[in-house]
Amino acid sequence: MEFETIVGLEVHAELNTKTKIYCNCKNAFGLEVNTQICPICTGMPGTLPTLNEKVVEYAVKMGHATNCTINNVCKQDRKNYFYPDLPKAYQISQADIPLCEHGYVDIMLDGNEKRIGITRIHIEEDAGKMLHNDAFQGTLVDFNRCGVPLIEIVSEPDMRSSAEAKAYLDTLKSILQYIDISDCKMEQGSIRCDVNVSVRPKGSTEFGKRVEMKNVNSFSGAMRAIDYEANRQIEALSRGEEIYQETRRWDDQKGVNVVLRTKEDAQDYRYFPEPDLSTIYIPVEKVEELKKEIPELPNAKIKRYVKELGLSQTDAELIAENLPRVKLFDECIEISKNRVSPKVISNWVLGDVSKYMNETGRDIAETPLNASLLCRIVELIEKNEISNTSGKVIFEEIIAGNTDIDKIIEEKGLKQISDDSAIEKIVNDVLAVNQKSVEDYRGGKTNALGFLVGQCMKASKGQANPAKCKELVLKYLEQ
Ligand code: ADP
Ligand code: MG
Ligand code: ZN
Repeated sequence: MEFETIVGLEVHAELNTKTKIYCNCKNAFGLEVNTQICPICTGMPGTLPTLNEKVVEYAVKMGHATNCTINNVCKQDRKNYFYPDLPKAYQISQADIPLCEHGYVDIMLDGNEKRIGITRIHIEEDAGKMLHNDAFQGTLVDFNRCGVPLIEIVSEPDMRSSAEAKAYLDTLKSILQYIDISDCKMEQGSIRCDVNVSVRPKGSTEFGKRVEMKNVNSFSGAMRAIDYEANRQIEALSRGEEIYQETRRWDDQKGVNVVLRTKEDAQDYRYFPEPDLSTIYIPVEKVEELKKEIPELPNAKIKRYVKELGLSQTDAELIAENLPRVKLFDECIEISKNRVSPKVISNWVLGDVSKYMNETGRDIAETPLNASLLCRIVELIEKNEISNTSGKVIFEEIIAGNTDIDKIIEEKGLKQISDDSAIEKIVNDVLAVNQKSVEDYRGGKTNALGFLVGQCMKASKGQANPAKCKELVLKYLEQ
C-alpha cells in the first residue's frame, strides 16, 4: 500500500525586541548567567507583569506578512506547568484568542508554488535554560531567557513531505528576516519547532493519528525527524499495528525518537485568563499603520526579479534568500538606472561579493563597499574602460579600504587599452615573434588563436581590450 505523509509545524521564534516581554530586563543572548533578571521574570511573589508594546507590534507585523486576520482585541492566558526553568510555574501565552489567525504563506519547491495555511500566531514568554556541568552533579538553571518574547506560528497540516516542511521553514525564516523581528540564529535557538507527523493511505481523505516531536533543533534535523517518523508509522501500519497519538522526543545524533508521553498522560495545562494583565486592544488605525511597514517580501521579490529584471529563477532565489545581498542588489538596480543589465549586477553580487561574504563571514555592509562603488566598477567594465580582471582588483582594493576608484586605476595602471592603433601595435609585435603559432592556426590548429590572444593580453599587462585583441589577431590569421 502506498502512503502519504502529513506534516504540521509549530514554530517558535524569539523576537529581537530590546527588552523582555513583561519587564525591563535586556533581551540578549550569551550574557553571563542570571545577570539579565529581575523579580518579575524570576516569578517572585507579588510582582506584576507589564506587556511590552513592541512585542505586540512585531507579532502583528508577522501576521500581516503571513496574510492573517489580526484580532485587535485579544487576551493572554496562563498555561500551567511545573518545570525548573519556569520559575512562575506557568507560562503567559494565548489560548483561545490568538493575536493573528487564518493566514497562509506560499512556498516554492522545484519550481512549483504551494500554499500552506497558518492556523494562528500568538505571543508568549520563553522559559529559562537548564545547564549541565561536569563540575556539578545536579542541574543548574539560567533564568536570562525567562521572559524573552516569542511568537508561536502554528501551521495547518498542509505539508506532504519533509522537503515541503523545509521549504516552509525557509520561507518563514526569510520573512522574519525581511521584517526584521527576529535574529533567526538557529545555533542560538532563536527559531525552534515542534513537528507533527501522520501518515494515511494514498487517496484517503481522513487524517491518521498524529505524533508530535519535540527537541528538533535545526531545519535539516526537522527533515530527518519527519522522514524517520513517517517511516516508523508506515512500518507499524504495515505490520497491522495501530498508531497512537503521542509526543516523542527526537534524538538527532542517534537519528531516532522515543516516547515522551502518550495521550493518556497528556498534560492538562488548565489554561485560564491571565488576571494580572488587561485585555490587549490595538486601534484599527495602528494595525493598518503596521501593515504599511511591511517591505516587499521574498516571494514577491523573486517574481519581480524574474519577470521585470530578467534574472533566472535560481539567481533570483539566491539573491532573495540573503538580506545583505538583497539590499546591495536592489540599491545597485536603483542607482544604475538601466545603464547596466541586472544580469551583470547579479553576477557580481552572487559572484565576487558572495564569495567574499562566505569566505570571511563578514556582511558586506561592514566593509567600505557600497552599491554606488559596485555600480561604478560594473559600469567601467561595461564601457570597456577597464577589464573584468581589473574590476576584481578594484573590488579587492575597496574592501581593503581604498575607495578612490580613479586613483586605484591610475596607480595600478588598470585603464584598459581600447584605442585601435595601440592594440594594433601590441598585436603586430606578438604575431611577429609567434610565427609558429600563426602557421599552426593556418594549418588547422584553431586553439592557437587563444594562445595568441593570451600573449597579447600578457604583453599589455592585462590592459588591452581582449575582444579587440581577438578581433585583430583573427583578421591577421584569416588574411
Ligand atoms: P497542540 O497544542 O496539541 O500541539 P496545536 O493546535 O498547537 O496542538 O498544534 C497542532 C499541530 O498539529 C498543528 O501544526 C497542526 O497542523 C498539526 N496537525 C494536526 N493534525 C495533524 C495530522 N493529522 N497530521 C499531522 N499534523 C497534524
Ligand atoms: Mg504542540
Ligand atoms: Zn526581568
